[in-house]
Amino acid sequence: MEEVVKGYDVDRLKVVTIASHSSLQILRGAKKLGLGTVAVAKPGVGWFYRRFNFIDRVIEVDFSEFERLADELTRDNAVLIPHGSYVEYVGWRRALRMPIPTFGNRYLLEWEASQSKKMKLLEYASIPIPKSFNDPSSVDRPVIVKLSGAKGGRGYFIAKDPRELMDKLSGVKDDDYIIQEYIVGVPAYYHYFASRVYGRVELFGMDIRYESNVDGRTFNLAEPTFVVVGNLPIVLRESLLPTVQRYGEEFSRAVSELVPPGMIGPYSLESIIKDDLTIVVFEFSGRIVAGTNVYMGIGSQYSVLYFDRPMDMGERIAHELVTAAKSGRLHEVVT
Ligand code: AMP
Repeated sequence: MEEVVKGYDVDRLKVVTIASHSSLQILRGAKKLGLGTVAVAKPGVGWFYRRFNFIDRVIEVDFSEFERLADELTRDNAVLIPHGSYVEYVGWRRALRMPIPTFGNRYLLEWEASQSKKMKLLEYASIPIPKSFNDPSSVDRPVIVKLSGAKGGRGYFIAKDPRELMDKLSGVKDDDYIIQEYIVGVPAYYHYFASRVYGRVELFGMDIRYESNVDGRTFNLAEPTFVVVGNLPIVLRESLLPTVQRYGEEFSRAVSELVPPGMIGPYSLESIIKDDLTIVVFEFSGRIVAGTNVYMGIGSQYSVLYFDRPMDMGERIAHELVTAAKSGRLHEVVT
């Protein structure tokens, strides 16, 4: 793919993404910086995306046939921007082989798909992570059980002690799950951007999730389900920012050592902050997260520190693409 973009007409670059997740932010940012924009929508969804004049073209296609668009899109100088719905709809295996230049390091998707590889990468980066238990009988604290097929938090459950754990596990048919220490504290999700152009990791913003049935008015009537419904903006005490920045940089360093060609573009670390103000990271996303949408059009809170003007993550991606293309480095930001 690095070779494919070397043949691109950089004055006619296009951004393509799946119409969902953070696509409005991505495509709006791309258009603002003068790039062409294409949304690929699930049949029946395209009409919504046609409402917006910053999207040049909306293609409706069954995602099982996504690869059929590749020739046309690459002829059209398109770079694909991956996001959570892209990974969900096409699956990480197909995403690894997708014959379209993809912004960022697509090889990370395989690490993200496996709970054990995911934790290994965070551990390698020396970032504090929750303790994992292989044997349910060795559990000595509250835990969260994550079933491998769980999506968006659905399929997780909490157990206060070994007895409750055994009880709940007896109803689980799947044997592919991890038992993880439940960290008590407040969640915070950090948005970073690893820039090849500027050779730095930017702490761009942060958010928290709005999850059913943990943030809802459940009055103890329902078990927590952690289904993500939306996101809310947040700022942290400034004294926590050096730690957040350090984790971001350590993660990027670990990726460059274990997953060549290293971290490129947006990524996220997902954490719980405990009451002693230590930060434990339980998850990462190696691409744009939907929580960046809370800053669409107004700019992520810390973007002004780097660019002296507010910028959202969609614009930040487009800025990297345009700047890399202008300096003959587009091949460095795609895989
Ligand atoms: P995830 O789908 O992995 O992002 O997790 C869904 C939600 O579960 C998160 O937003 C957290 O609120 C919660 N969560 C996941 N892992 C832990 C943990 N080890 N300790 C506390 N809460 C967690």
